[in-house]
Amino acid sequence: MKNFSLLLMMLLTVTCHSQVQYLHCGQLLTMENDKVQKEMTVVIEGTKITEIKRGYAEAPDTATVVDLKNKFVMPGLMDMHVHIESELSPRRYLDRFSKNKEEVALGALKYCRRTLMAGFTTVRDLGGTGVNVALRNAINQGEVVGPRIFTAEKSIATTGGHADPTNGMKDDLTGDPGPKEGVINTPEEARKAVRQRYKNGADCIKITATGGVLSVAKDGKGPQFTINEIEAVVEAAADLGYVTAAHAHGAEGMKRAVLGGIHSIEHGTMMTEEIMDLMKERGTYLVPTISAGKYTASKAKVPGYYPKIIVPKVLEMGPLIQATFEKAYKRGVKIAFGTDSGVSPHGDNAKEFIYMTEVGMSNYEALQAATVNAADLMKISDELGTLKKGKTADLIGLNTNPLEDIEATLDIPFVMKSGTVYKHE
Ligand SMILES: [Zn+2]
Repeated sequence: MKNFSLLLMMLLTVTCHSQVQYLHCGQLLTMENDKVQKEMTVVIEGTKITEIKRGYAEAPDTATVVDLKNKFVMPGLMDMHVHIESELSPRRYLDRFSKNKEEVALGALKYCRRTLMAGFTTVRDLGGTGVNVALRNAINQGEVVGPRIFTAEKSIATTGGHADPTNGMKDDLTGDPGPKEGVINTPEEARKAVRQRYKNGADCIKITATGGVLSVAKDGKGPQFTINEIEAVVEAAADLGYVTAAHAHGAEGMKRAVLGGIHSIEHGTMMTEEIMDLMKERGTYLVPTISAGKYTASKAKVPGYYPKIIVPKVLEMGPLIQATFEKAYKRGVKIAFGTDSGVSPHGDNAKEFIYMTEVGMSNYEALQAATVNAADLMKISDELGTLKKGKTADLIGLNTNPLEDIEATLDIPFVMKSGTVYKHE
């Protein structure tokens, strides 16, 4: 009997995995190029795309037909900079002292769901408490509804730097965080911190190369790593096959990050033309996070929203980001889509498309940043980023053509991740 139920389970699993779906798509943009194809069929077997056919192909009896004849279908969107564990609020600074990890995790379930329902089937989490690793696992195991997460676990900082987890605490609470907590002050410690992230289950590495806006510290832009420390991070990360990201507002720390071999500059607020040219030379991506700049600046007017030390930093940095993005884009720096959601609200990720296109990027290029380029940055182009035979079946359906009206990305009625339909309105 026991064997019989085991066999039944195996059979069910096999059936489940080889489930065939025929998606009849009114309009299809594979992102392999900018051509919109009408009346197409995407065939999916289990989690993979097995064929893309012209016309509405007739499905065999064993297959499921998904009617998307009135939809514009394209690859699932990818956000290269989120913090899935939390969301900005005046309580944020108190929460660090009062919330247990379990509460952080339970609170994050709604952010995971909201992100996926907004059409973002993949995100890169650039720093949290470690709960982000558990969320990734729970999502992968199908226990929680959310996007595919690539997580940096905890960001790596120097003492007192942007991601020192004890900034702003009173003396007897600060202790002396080290590599284990993601705080380093030598190349040796940098290597240890990277390896610790590996041990903790991270998928990528994030450093805070300069001061930051929302940390309880005076400086929002000065360099916080030596070039030797950055090189040590990049070298240890490369051994583990990790892509590296650097938070950077000020120019000096940003330049060191680019020269040290970091793969993407996050925010890039005070990027100079010299740095833009260095990034072009080295193929470094900019992940703009215009959403974060706009959202944090809008909250600076609300009395008591931030601790006092943060307000002048928000007012200085927030408004600069969109203009820097415009310059970097026009100079030819590679752009990968990223919002810093968690600073801005989760689920509003697509607003970044509006901000990108309103300063001159074409709708197609903005969509590329959130598909093809994001996959390239994370070195997962074999799996994701376009719709093609053999790739993972992450697809979204829109009501209208986003190449004509980018606002179509703000409301996503159909979401499929790894062949499973999560939303169909
Ligand atoms: Zn961030």
